[in-house]
Amino acid sequence: MSARAFRAGNRVEPRSSYRPGKVSPTLYRSFLFYYVIIDTPMDPLENKRHTLAHLLAAAVLEHYPHARPTLGPAIENGFYYDFDFSQGDAPKEADLSLLERTMREILPTWHEMVGKEISLKDARDRFKDNPFKKEIVEDIAMRGEKITLYTAGGFTDLCRGGHAENPARDIAPDSFTLDRLAGAYWRGDEKNPMLTRIYGLAFNTKEDLEAYKKRREEARERDHRKIAREQGLLVFSDLVGSGMPLFTPKGNIIRSEIIAYSRELNAELGFGEVHTPNINKAALFKISGHYDKYKEDMLTVHSQYSEEEMFLKPMNCPQHTQIYASAPRSYRDLPIRFSDFSLLYRDERPGELSGLTRLRSFAQDDGHIFCREDQIEEELSAVLSAIQKALTTYRIDYWIRLSLRDPARPEKYIGEDATWEKAEHIMHTLLTEKNIPYKKGLGEAAFYGPKMDIMAVDALEREWQISTVQLDLNMPNRFNLEYTAEDGSKKTPVMIHRALIGSPDRFMGILIEHYGGAFPVWLAPVQARVVPVSQKHAGYTEKIREDMARAGVRVEIDIADESLGKKIRRAKMEKIPYLLVVGDKEAETGTLSVESRGEKNGEKMTVEEFTARIVREIRTRA
Ligand SMILES: [Zn+2]
Ligand SMILES: [Zn+2]
Repeated sequence: MSARAFRAGNRVEPRSSYRPGKVSPTLYRSFLFYYVIIDTPMDPLENKRHTLAHLLAAAVLEHYPHARPTLGPAIENGFYYDFDFSQGDAPKEADLSLLERTMREILPTWHEMVGKEISLKDARDRFKDNPFKKEIVEDIAMRGEKITLYTAGGFTDLCRGGHAENPARDIAPDSFTLDRLAGAYWRGDEKNPMLTRIYGLAFNTKEDLEAYKKRREEARERDHRKIAREQGLLVFSDLVGSGMPLFTPKGNIIRSEIIAYSRELNAELGFGEVHTPNINKAALFKISGHYDKYKEDMLTVHSQYSEEEMFLKPMNCPQHTQIYASAPRSYRDLPIRFSDFSLLYRDERPGELSGLTRLRSFAQDDGHIFCREDQIEEELSAVLSAIQKALTTYRIDYWIRLSLRDPARPEKYIGEDATWEKAEHIMHTLLTEKNIPYKKGLGEAAFYGPKMDIMAVDALEREWQISTVQLDLNMPNRFNLEYTAEDGSKKTPVMIHRALIGSPDRFMGILIEHYGGAFPVWLAPVQARVVPVSQKHAGYTEKIREDMARAGVRVEIDIADESLGKKIRRAKMEKIPYLLVVGDKEAETGTLSVESRGEKNGEKMTVEEFTARIVREIRTRA
């Protein structure tokens, strides 16, 4: 599993602005590529959003003449602009509507945005009172690029172009809105001054804007941190540390079910589960290459008995090579497949930790395949099928990103060119032959090989990178892994790194939001709740609980001295799949009144019938 994979893995760029956080990779990226992006042809919506950023700056300067505009790119869902207000008053949330009104007043006067090139000297002079713009000017000059200004109405800004042709005509006044204020460090660096970022939402039409706001509201309702709190699934403690979740018995049931399912799929794929320690000597990571390429993400551990550097492991692969290397291997032994659910640790920036989506301690449904070259295709194909099966069970859509190396930055990768080309070719061919929809991601490869990133699409059509399948022709070499070929010669096996659903911890966060807290029966911490109409049914109720528990159902009784209506409402709020109401008639006839989650009318059935039905649902993960 590569550093990049996990870093980018939270929410797939470029849709990632949903993620809260100070300086997300998207923002950083849009900053870095500010001058690059607008050079390339963009879609008209992007041009509108970019134009609106200028319009915002114009409106801000009208009310805050002392404001110093810095950068204002188009982003997913809209745009933002960062201002320095240190020379006077700064706007508050309540002032956004006034700014928005001003934008709408100015818009009809912007019929075009006219560009003009200026000299470095003129640019320095023009921005002498704005150190931020000045810094950008110097950067552009250093790269030997042209410095251009764009003017619309009476407003001029440093920019390279990429605007709506005729803003007054092309931008519907009700298709955008100012959204919120946030603090942002200049260039995303905490050592730099804090600026005020104004975010705007912008779409082609008012309808699109409204639809987006609705989706966002829905996403907030489904926020896994909110639901996890309401359902009591996990907690974070300041004393334990951020990014290190503590799963409650209920939450741990879900997590364990996810693991159990992956374990079952691993067994079908022929994996042998191994168990490995959390701490490693640095020596291991020096050979694997992680020490050079990944050290800043690893947490160190000290022993009082040695000076030796040690680390909490960020991944399992290097350890698995040592199990492989522990015995002589023949071509007939291959493929050898190890799976592992050990906890892994990564030193994520505290500011980027949020709920389960980014963690410092988490497991993966990790596995490594050591095989011959002629077995690669079959192995990859089987793994892809298992992933497909898993995601179908979870009712999650997906697509695959074929992550390739960035040929322009060879220093980021280990291994020979020829090896890379071979590996990339195999994956490409496989995806084409299997007719799997995929997109290429240049520069998204792991440092040791290309990979296929599985992108899950949840109920709100948000994309998450959940798991990867990576071909690695480098690490086996670095660890001198070998097998005896048919002709008696020594050969190096290929290593395939793969996960199915990725991290069970993160995946649980995704599932909570995907299901909106209404877990399918097999995952639900409480699968059924028995509600007696009155205390006199307590004996019968308890017998039902015992019988069902013996059949493997997670069932509980609600014996609180409250009205039936209140109990039913509570069970609905907790999204318990089945509510079993027991009154006089049911007790007499050995039946239950079954209320299924989300369905209006109850059904009457015997305890045996219901038990058989729920057990079947659990077993088939229906
Ligand atoms: Zn512009
Ligand atoms: Zn691995």
